[in-house]
Amino acid sequence: MAKNDKQFVEEITPMEVDFPQWYTDVILKTDLVDYSPVKGFMVIKPYGYALWENIQNYLDKKFKETGHKNCYFPLLIPESLLTKEAEHVEGFAPEVAWVTHGGKNELAERLCVRPTSETIICSMYAKWLKSYRDLPYLYNQWCSVVRWEKATRPFLRTSEFLWQEGHTLHETYEEAEAETLQMLSIYREMCENLLAIPVISGQKSENEKFAGAEDTYTIEALMHDGKALQSGTSHFLGQHFTKAFEIQFSDREGKQAFPYHTSWGVSTRLIGGLIMVHSDNRGLVLPPRVAPTQVVIVPIAAHKGNVMEKVDEIFADLKTNNRVEVDDRANYSPGWKFNEWEMKGVPVRIEIGPKDIEKNQVTIFRRDTLEKTQISMENLKETIENLLEEIQENLFNKALKMREEKTYTATKMDEFKNIIEETPGFVKSMWCGEVECELKIKEETGATIRCMPFEQEKIGDTCICCGKKAEKMVYLAKAY
Ligand SMILES: [Zn+2]
Repeated sequence: MAKNDKQFVEEITPMEVDFPQWYTDVILKTDLVDYSPVKGFMVIKPYGYALWENIQNYLDKKFKETGHKNCYFPLLIPESLLTKEAEHVEGFAPEVAWVTHGGKNELAERLCVRPTSETIICSMYAKWLKSYRDLPYLYNQWCSVVRWEKATRPFLRTSEFLWQEGHTLHETYEEAEAETLQMLSIYREMCENLLAIPVISGQKSENEKFAGAEDTYTIEALMHDGKALQSGTSHFLGQHFTKAFEIQFSDREGKQAFPYHTSWGVSTRLIGGLIMVHSDNRGLVLPPRVAPTQVVIVPIAAHKGNVMEKVDEIFADLKTNNRVEVDDRANYSPGWKFNEWEMKGVPVRIEIGPKDIEKNQVTIFRRDTLEKTQISMENLKETIENLLEEIQENLFNKALKMREEKTYTATKMDEFKNIIEETPGFVKSMWCGEVECELKIKEETGATIRCMPFEQEKIGDTCICCGKKAEKMVYLAKAY
């Protein structure tokens, strides 16, 4: 049996050997996702969807606490609406999917499958908004969007993905700007508290910002392989869309005015990030707060004495506070079950056998440290609760340490190129603010400016690329 257990683990390619293959093995073998008959579209299986639901529940609560309401807008957008804001259409046109027929009849106007919903939502806001008294509009929708991608990978980049998109209107510039930053900070807090992923918050450069936005703010996380993942964005759209869509209201002086507009979103991409930050060569490692199953109880010699009785008792006790499962499948050995739950990243495994019961103890296995210990059955609920918190914190600290180890500074281009090639990660450098330098860096190294962090440091006085006076410190990296 020991031999079979080993083979079971060997099904996952080590990440040091082939990182993309490791990722694919993990997501497929742990039943998170599968490929669908349509290329580039993924099927999210129950275990993967449960992760999304936990993210959704967490954020939905935060959105509602900050005054937002959910609603739903249609999947299809008339071409004439999509083309109303020039930068926006230019940004999205290459990846839009079109509906041209209803049944056998060709449509008078083509309809696009939403790549994002600013345009359709703005067309409705224009119809609804009358007075400053109606503001702010604080709406969000949970839905999927389609962006036709050439190269796809489940969760990270798929032609359809699940997300939420918030769309708000405000009376003043300041209020809209504050909303944009508030939502970014909710995303940061979600990443850090729920997913145990440390992120860098900052602003996108002109070249990397959302099509039609005045300012785009982002949170950026670093993966095991030293690549960055944009994990959430919040856009200050100013009056670009409200003017294009003629959204007007009568202001406090009774004059017609255009409101200020924001939009913000996170997607199922976060699940890809979750995997690439915490997981290892044995499979998934899930932070307890987001794990679909936090504790699994595996009975040992279930047929003997009062093992199942004790298992049921402990299960009933723990499930009042935590997501717990009992694996009492008779046709699998305990060793096989251990491997499976380890691979699926369940934070804590409890083993209960006749010997444990004799000693009034249980055996505990921690997925994050792979440690096995015996603990008393007394106050088990509290002990488990504390242990889950400890694991959550440990995973965050581990991820932070990994990011710090993979964060470098560079003041010269050859130094920068060397880091990107030899030891990929975040590189902090000074930048003049010119798009020419940004594009040159991208072309020569494949790395992009991930953000201009809110927390600025002075690494030097001159731009890493052109040597002219530097404006900002930026984080650079290759990205997903
Ligand atoms: Zn420059």
